[in-house]
Amino acid sequence: MATIIDGKKVAAEVLSECSEEIAELKSRGITPGLAVVLVGEDPASQVYVNSKVRKCAELGIHSEKIILSKQTTQEEVLETVARLNADPAIHGILVQSPPPPQIDEEAIVRAIDPAKDVDGFHPENVAKLALEDPTGFVPCTPAGCMRLLEAVGVETAGAEAVVVGRSMIVGKPMALLLMARGSDATVTVAHSRTKNLAEVCRRADIIVAAVGIPEFIRADFVKAGATVIDVGINRVEDQSTKRGYRLCGDVAYDEVSEKAGAITPVPGGVGPMTIALLMKNTIKAARAIG
Ligand code: NDP
Repeated sequence: MATIIDGKKVAAEVLSECSEEIAELKSRGITPGLAVVLVGEDPASQVYVNSKVRKCAELGIHSEKIILSKQTTQEEVLETVARLNADPAIHGILVQSPPPPQIDEEAIVRAIDPAKDVDGFHPENVAKLALEDPTGFVPCTPAGCMRLLEAVGVETAGAEAVVVGRSMIVGKPMALLLMARGSDATVTVAHSRTKNLAEVCRRADIIVAAVGIPEFIRADFVKAGATVIDVGINRVEDQSTKRGYRLCGDVAYDEVSEKAGAITPVPGGVGPMTIALLMKNTIKAARAIG
């Protein structure tokens, strides 16, 4: 039976480091500030935005929640970003994904001051990650996955790592982090055109699943003893629950946990890490901007 990697516990450790850093910054007259912009009424996005704002309040980070209607124009979002770029009380800006179809998300991300891009999606920060320049912002979810691997003492140097998924939010930055000097894994990135995926995954000492398909990674994809990081958050219909759905990952947890050496649960694995690393990035921005 696999060791369950407790994301809530590791996230609590990260948040406790954040509290210390915030106290130190406040003693120098700096209160970190995060602005979260939500365009439209996507229910999952509302949940994410509210939990980010709540976490800021718990830690004593100043936050501003900006809700724009689903008819908002590109110009109005750009104006909001420009205002936040110029606001000295705001050190981090994020625009919750996905926006409504009339919004060009890439153009919005490019408009955010890279020094305030705490999601790490601006091209300047993407480049810094590829260049292994530590002054950049690393996207929160893959940064959280790396922290989980570290917390459970998984050796990445020389390990075979397979990342399933190549999105700019998770898969690609995850691969860059695993292959970076210091992590030193041998990385394979798989995607929807990969042939013999189960065979590719079976080579892995570390599998990171970021596919967006419920329970996609089955036990026969996993080498005995491998570490499995499940990034997926999927809503699956379940009439036996009050909400009518349950959350599940991209990994078939029950069968894979019989075979893996260590595994993250969903919920309670990668999810809490993402928000903790967002707080860390906001503090980093506040420290740099002052
Ligand atoms: P995307 O949809 O952007 O990317 C999914 C990736 O999976 C793509 O690269 C796609 O390949 C690949 N893929 C799809 N089908 C297959 C297949 N049959 N075989 C192999 N690869 C496949 O998703 P994200 O990266 O944004 O998110 C992935 C998951 O992680 C989602 O469940 C999401 O909800 C969750 N997530 C969780 C977060 C957290 O905080 N825990 C944060 C962000 C995301 P191709 O490129 O060829 O299309």
